[in-house]
Amino acid sequence: MIEALDIQVKGIVQGVGFRPFVYRMAKKYLINGWVLNATDGVFIHAEGEAKLLDEFVIELSENPPAASRVEEVTLKEVPLEDFDSFEIRFSDAGAVEKTTLVSPDLATCDDCVRELFNPNDRRYRYPFINCTNCGPRFTIIEKLPYDRKSTSMKDFPMCERCAREYGDPLDRRFHAQPDACFECGPHLSWREHEGLPGALASVDASVPAVGLEERTNAADEACDAPDAIALPLGPVIWGKTRAESDAIIARAVELLRAGKILAVKGLGGFHLVCDANNADAVALLRARKRREGKAFAVMAASTADVRRVCEVNDAEAAALEGSQRPIVLLKKRAGAAFAPGLADRLPELGVMLPYTPLQHLLLHDFADETKGRGYCLIPLLVMTSGNIHDEPIVIDDEDAYAKLFSVADAFIGHDRAIRARYDDSVVRVIDAGSAGEALQFLRRARGFAPLPIPLASQPAERADAAASRGTRSASADESLRTEVRGAAACDRIPGTAEALADPDGPEGSHDASREASVRSQAILAVGPEQKNTFTLTRDAEAFVSQHIGDMENAETYDAWLQAKDRYETLFEITPTRLACDLHPEYLTSKWAHDESRARKLPLTEVQHHHAHIVSVMGEHGLPGPVCGIAFDGTGYGVDGAIWGGEVLLCNQRAFERFANFAYVPMPGGAAAVRHPLRMAYGALWAFDLLEHPGAADALAALGDQAALCEQMIDCGLNTPMTSSVGRLFDAASALLGICTEPKYEGEPAILLEAAMDKNQTNVSHETAEAGQREAAHAAADAAAALPAAPPNAEDDAAAADRYAIEVVKNTATAESTAQDTSVVLFDAAPAFRALLDDKAADVPVAVIARRFHDAFVQAVATAAELARSVYGIETVALSGGVFMNRYLVEHALAALERVGFTVAVNRDLPPNDGCISFGQAVVAWASNEEGAAERGA
Ligand SMILES: [Zn+2]
Ligand SMILES: [Zn+2]
Repeated sequence: MIEALDIQVKGIVQGVGFRPFVYRMAKKYLINGWVLNATDGVFIHAEGEAKLLDEFVIELSENPPAASRVEEVTLKEVPLEDFDSFEIRFSDAGAVEKTTLVSPDLATCDDCVRELFNPNDRRYRYPFINCTNCGPRFTIIEKLPYDRKSTSMKDFPMCERCAREYGDPLDRRFHAQPDACFECGPHLSWREHEGLPGALASVDASVPAVGLEERTNAADEACDAPDAIALPLGPVIWGKTRAESDAIIARAVELLRAGKILAVKGLGGFHLVCDANNADAVALLRARKRREGKAFAVMAASTADVRRVCEVNDAEAAALEGSQRPIVLLKKRAGAAFAPGLADRLPELGVMLPYTPLQHLLLHDFADETKGRGYCLIPLLVMTSGNIHDEPIVIDDEDAYAKLFSVADAFIGHDRAIRARYDDSVVRVIDAGSAGEALQFLRRARGFAPLPIPLASQPAERADAAASRGTRSASADESLRTEVRGAAACDRIPGTAEALADPDGPEGSHDASREASVRSQAILAVGPEQKNTFTLTRDAEAFVSQHIGDMENAETYDAWLQAKDRYETLFEITPTRLACDLHPEYLTSKWAHDESRARKLPLTEVQHHHAHIVSVMGEHGLPGPVCGIAFDGTGYGVDGAIWGGEVLLCNQRAFERFANFAYVPMPGGAAAVRHPLRMAYGALWAFDLLEHPGAADALAALGDQAALCEQMIDCGLNTPMTSSVGRLFDAASALLGICTEPKYEGEPAILLEAAMDKNQTNVSHETAEAGQREAAHAAADAAAALPAAPPNAEDDAAAADRYAIEVVKNTATAESTAQDTSVVLFDAAPAFRALLDDKAADVPVAVIARRFHDAFVQAVATAAELARSVYGIETVALSGGVFMNRYLVEHALAALERVGFTVAVNRDLPPNDGCISFGQAVVAWASNEEGAAERGA
C-alpha cells in the first residue's frame, strides 16, 4: 500500500551532504516527494510502499552521512499528493536558510583519500580534493546562506566537469561548495629562501615532476647548508598542474628530510612543520619559534602507525579518526623513543592524523622516504601553530612571508583564502567513572566550533542518574560535620540552601511571555584573559567561539575583535546584554565596560570560578544547587584576593563560598607564577615550615630572593594572597626540584603529575638498534597486558599512604558576606609538612608526587561530603585548569561516585579558561531569566 509521511530531521543535517543522501535513499527505496532545508532541520515529504517507507526512515536515522548527527526524527502521516519523482527543493528566500548552523571544517573523507591516491582519478594528487562529506566550511564562509558565492571559493568558477558533478543529485559532490579540480580550483604555491641547494624553479607542465631519487644529492647538500633564513625569499612558484604541484611536494619532502622547517598552509592557518625524528630540526624550530619547553604536537600517517609508539584504546582511535581530527593526547608506550626536545619528561604525546589532502600527500611521500629512520619507529612530522611568541596563528600568505620569514626555510601556501583563524583542537580521553570513557577538551577550535551549545535546562536525565546511584558513606568525621553545620548556622549565611534553590524547582515554570522575553536577548560574554573564547547567544543557543588565545598582546586583542565581529555578522546577532569577568584589569572586561557605557547595554560581571562551575551546569542542564569545586590557577575573588581553590554552592545565577584553601602569600604577584620557588617560599611561610630541613635546598636555590620574599610578605608589598590550588602545585613542584623555572604556563604542575609516572625516563635512545627498540616494544606489550589497578579500587594501604589536608572552621566577622567568607578552610600545611618529611627521608619523588595528588583527591571528596551533610546537595561539578590533571580528575570522579555523588565535568568545553565565556553567558542568561520572571510577576 502506498502511504505518505512528512518527516522532520533535526541535528547537524545541513552543509554535510544530508539532502543528497536523502535523495539517494529515496531513489533506493522508490520514494517520491521532496526534501528541503529549513530553519529547524531538514523536511522530507515521502510517498512510497509502507514497507519501503519504513526502511527509508530507518536508513535516515541509523545510517546518515559521516559528518551529520541525527538527533531527532519526527514522522507524521499525511494525505497522498501523488508525486511521480523525488526532488531536492531549494528554499527561494534566503531568510529560511539564514538561521541554519555553520558546519565546522571536516577532515578529508575516505572516499576522497582513495581518489587522491588513485592514478586513474582526475583528481589524482590534487591538494584540494573534497566532497559533500568533507573539506573546509567555517574557514571559507563569508556570509550565510552557505553557498559558493558566499565563500572564498567564489574566485574559482567551476570547470564544466566540476559543474556537472555539483549539479547532479546522485553525485557525491552535489552542492559541495568547495568542489574543484586542477583545472578550475585553487593551487599550491611555493616560496623558499635563496641559498638552499637544489632550489625549485618553475616546472614546465610538459615535463614530468623531478623524481625524489634524482634530488637526494640536493637534500644532502641542503643538510649542510648554512642558515638560509638570513637571505631573501625567492620567487613564488605555482603548482597549477599535477606535475608542478608534485614538484612542490617533492621539494618540501626533500627539505623536511634535510632537517629544514616549512610553513604549510592548512585549513585555519599555517603550521610550522619539521621532521619530528630529527632532534636538530626540533631544536631549530624551538629556537626560531621562541618556544622553549612546551611539547610539540605531531602528525602521523595512520592509527596503525600511532599504535606502535603510543597506547591507543578504542575511544582514542575514534577521536583520532573522527572528521574533526583533533590533536589527541596519548600515553606514550613504555620504551618508545622520541627525539629529544619533542615532548620531554611528559607521559603523553599530542598526535593527530592528516585532515587535508595536502597533509595526506606530505605524510604519504615523507613516510615513503623515512621508513625505519630516526628515534621512533614511525615517520612523524611536527605540526605546530604557525606563529611566534603566542601571537595569533598566521592565515595569509603575504603575512606568512613577513611574520614567519625567519622561522621557516620555505613556504607552501595556496590561493584559497582563509576567512577565520582556526587552531587545532586538543583533546584527551579520560576515564569518567560511570560515564565511561569521555573526551576532555584542552582546546576547542577546528572541527568543533562554531557548533552551538544549548542554553536551556534539561535536568531530568541527570537527576535520574543520581537517584539510581549508591548510598551515602559516612566517611566524613561526624563531629567535624556537626561543627561545620554549627558554623554555617550561627556565624552567617542567611539560608544558603534556600537562597540557591530555584524557587520554581528544577523544571522551572516558564510561561510564554517570560520565555519570549529571555529569548529576545542576545548576550555577548567576552571571556577571560587567558585561553580566551567569547560566547554569543541567539535564542537558547550559545555559540562559543574557537580558541582565541591569551589576551596579552595587541595582535591577539585584534584577533578577538575580528572574530567577535565575524560571529556577529555571520549569525546576525546584535548583543543586547554583555557579560564579563569580575577582574577590572582584563582587556576584555575593560572593553565590556566601555561598550556597556557607550551602547547603554546591561552588563553582568561574573566571578571567575562561578563561571567555571556554571559552565559545567550549563553544559549538563543542571539548574542547581550544586557543590562546585573549582581548582584553578588564578581568578579574581570578590574580596580582592586571588582565588583558585574554591568550593562554591551554586545555582546558575549566584553562589556562596562554602570552602576555600587557606590563603598563602604570593611574593611578587605574577612573578611568583613565573618563579615557583617564590611561591614555595610563600607556602612555607604560611605553613610555618621555613625551618624544615626538607626545605633547605629549595631555599638555598632561591638565594638572595628569599630575603626579598620575606621583606615583601612582611610589608605586604606586591604580595597578594591566594587560595589557588594551581599555585600549591607550583610550590610543591619547586620544593621537589621538579620545575623551578617554568618555560610555559602550567609546566610545574604538569611535570609534578608526570613525576608520578615511574616509566618516564630520559634515557637517550640515540644509539638504540632497531632490535633493541623492538624488544622494548615487546616489553611494553607485556606490561600493557598486566591488569592495571582501577582508580576506584583503593585499598587501605593507599588511604594511609596519602598526605592530609585539614579542614578547619573559618572565622567570620561582622562584615563577612556569604560570597567572600567561607564556612570552612582547607589547610594544606600538613600535606606540605609530610612532603618535606618524605623528601628529607629520601622517599622517591614518584611516591611523594602521588601522595601529594591523593591529598587533593581526598580534599575534593571531603568538600563534597561536608556540603552534602550540611545542605543535602548531591551533585558535584568539577572545573578549573587544575582538572586538566588526568590523575586528579579521574581519581576525584571515582572517589565521589564511590560515595554516591552525581558528578559533572566539562563535556564539550575545556575545564581551563576556555569554558569561562560560556559560564559567563549562562549566568547572564539565567540572571536575566530571573529578572524576566520578576517583571512578569
Ligand atoms: Zn570527501
Ligand atoms: Zn574543475
